[in-house]
Amino acid sequence: MKVALITGITGQDGSYLAELLLSKGYMVHGIKRRSSSFNTQRIDHLYIDQHEQHVNFKLHYGDLTDSTNLIRIIQEIQPDEIYNLGAMSHVKVSFDSPEYVGNVDGLGTLRILEAVRILGLEKKTRIYQASTSELYGGLEENKNAAGFYDEQSPFYPRSPYGVAKIYGFWITKNYREAYDMYACNGILFNHESPRRGETFVTRKITMATAAIALGKQETLYLGNLNALRDWGHAKDYVEAMWRILQQDKAEDYVIATGVTTSIRDFVRMSFAEVGITLRFEGEAENEVGIVESIDEAKYRAIVGDEVANQCISKLANKPVIKVDPKYYRPTEVDLLIGDPTKSKTQLGWNPEYDVEALCAEMIKSDLQLVKTNYNGQLEHIVG
Ligand code: NDP
Repeated sequence: MKVALITGITGQDGSYLAELLLSKGYMVHGIKRRSSSFNTQRIDHLYIDQHEQHVNFKLHYGDLTDSTNLIRIIQEIQPDEIYNLGAMSHVKVSFDSPEYVGNVDGLGTLRILEAVRILGLEKKTRIYQASTSELYGGLEENKNAAGFYDEQSPFYPRSPYGVAKIYGFWITKNYREAYDMYACNGILFNHESPRRGETFVTRKITMATAAIALGKQETLYLGNLNALRDWGHAKDYVEAMWRILQQDKAEDYVIATGVTTSIRDFVRMSFAEVGITLRFEGEAENEVGIVESIDEAKYRAIVGDEVANQCISKLANKPVIKVDPKYYRPTEVDLLIGDPTKSKTQLGWNPEYDVEALCAEMIKSDLQLVKTNYNGQLEHIVG
């Protein structure tokens, strides 16, 4: 039985990866942080009572800032594969806590690599490092001739998150070259899912769309509507992570869809899922998204007659999307689009979801969530 260790197992990707590895017969260990309230909602369904049956899923308390803890866990479980997904992963928040992000996202990667080296596991343990498209920083001149970022494109990170992750990228590559370790970077473009944190823009949009459709929220405030992103589904992307560690030779790969969508179009797509067509007017800070029309049959089927009777007339011509400059980043990344040619040809990776299917799944899940468990504006959301 192969043994895997996942840092960041309580996060979006960690939960999908744990499911994937368990389905492949792995013994899966995960590191979770101690918190004052439960933080395992995304993986609770994987838990099996240890008294009842053989357990192939085990959580350990730990933190990427704590070397001795990492060394102890790795020594104890002797993993064949480590997936280092743990990180403070929010770009906007990284401007507020840049030193912490450097410690976790940058030095945390070093601590994992060093733990493996100190324990003499260089030839046994393969390491996946969660690198990111934020390394590219969106500079036009750094794209390849076809207009994409690929494995050869230069980096120019534009946030403390991107700068910390660039350390993680290079130290992984350096340990591969210096100590002949099987250590790889997956340079993943944005990937989302119903399990995406509520402070990330896609999830903020799908939750608010559901809440507005159900009459539980008035307005959704967003930052730069022109930002363009290459969005895939986390379920597809964890499959690529696994494939990266199954090759003969350790290499770095871009994982992306190669299709880009603006924030504005993702908003349009979300509202279309509940039968609402939006039109956008005005520019920059004054831009608003107004309800242009409602497909009444579709909307009624989704929200039910009681809610529809209360909300339809209120929604007509209503400006439901507004821009709030407080959500702008100090340095923006305007466009990110990746070239997945290498991962498709070398890894045989083929994503199942496109952005429409992704959005539809997120809306379906958030409608359910908001119907049962939500009663107000998501004011605390910063993304
Ligand atoms: P999430 O924010 O959903 O999950 C991050 C995970 O890291 C959580 O389990 C979190 O624990 C854990 N974590 C945070 N700080 C520490 C720490 N100090 N020590 C140990 N664990 C910690 O991120 P995703 O699942 O979306 O992303 C996974 C990885 O991939 C991250 O490294 C991210 O930066 C990277 N990435 C993500 C992309 C995306 O679009 N999703 C794109 C490219 C890269 P807790 O639950 O306790 O907060």
